[in-house]
Amino acid sequence: MHELSIANSILEAVRAEAARRPGVRVAKVGVRVGELSGVEPDALSFSFEALVRGSDLEPLALEVETCPRRQRCCECGCLFRVVDFNLVCPDCGSTESRCVSGDELEMVYLEIEEPQAAPAPGTGLRGAA
Ligand SMILES: [Zn+2]
Repeated sequence: MHELSIANSILEAVRAEAARRPGVRVAKVGVRVGELSGVEPDALSFSFEALVRGSDLEPLALEVETCPRRQRCCECGCLFRVVDFNLVCPDCGSTESRCVSGDELEMVYLEIEEPQAAPAPGTGLRGAA
């Protein structure tokens, strides 16, 4: 299953990042998936949750951002979204264009929880007066 191995490599990347920052916890990871990448976002989320459950990274959330296929017209330079595999430029009618996005499969961000962000109990009002 394709998505399972992708989910696994995302987790590997998260672990590698966490290892570089001792003491912090990764709360969330965001990935960008293009519609040409062949990855099913739902299947990816499902695989991800299955791998995280019961692991050292739990509870880690995944956010999948899907990217539509976009082409840039070679004639007029217009950027357009491809619907129903129609590659004709909506501005000038040219059929010459190249794909500029839609095949992404990348990690875009990690949401880190810093341990010192939580206030220590009992120190709140000391020195006030
Ligand atoms: Zn055009």
